[in-house]
Amino acid sequence: MNVEEIKNKLTELAFERTTPFCYMCYQLCPNGRCEDCGSDDLMRHLDGVGVEYGTEWIVESILEEELEAIDLDDSFEQMIEDCYGTEVQIGFIKSDVSTAIKNLDPIAWDVAKGEYLDSLIEDVSIVEAGNGYYWKHELEAFLS
Ligand SMILES: [Zn+2]
Repeated sequence: MNVEEIKNKLTELAFERTTPFCYMCYQLCPNGRCEDCGSDDLMRHLDGVGVEYGTEWIVESILEEELEAIDLDDSFEQMIEDCYGTEVQIGFIKSDVSTAIKNLDPIAWDVAKGEYLDSLIEDVSIVEAGNGYYWKHELEAFLS
């Protein structure tokens, strides 16, 4: 799946999981038109969450409930560990590599973290969706 397919599938899922809702008559309208006032200008109702126009909030809610957004800090530290090992010794002090870099040069740490995020986006390893970033393979597994 490419990013657009993923986004489309998430929107489809948002429609599947919700029911049209007439806010004026305050009722569900599963047929897509309100039986009382005839309106087709309907919100979406997500059980246990609420009613609102649009689908973005539904996607956010579904992803928050069912997938884990990437913790960029954790993921970056893991990558640093994979590249440079877990422990470093400077003189007589031993430290884990991430802590050492963060303390020695916090700006370099942030810059490298930003580049790491950019590279993940560029490779399409991760996809921005809902309120955060998700691993693409996890989104694909979730959607299929
Ligand atoms: Zn109505």
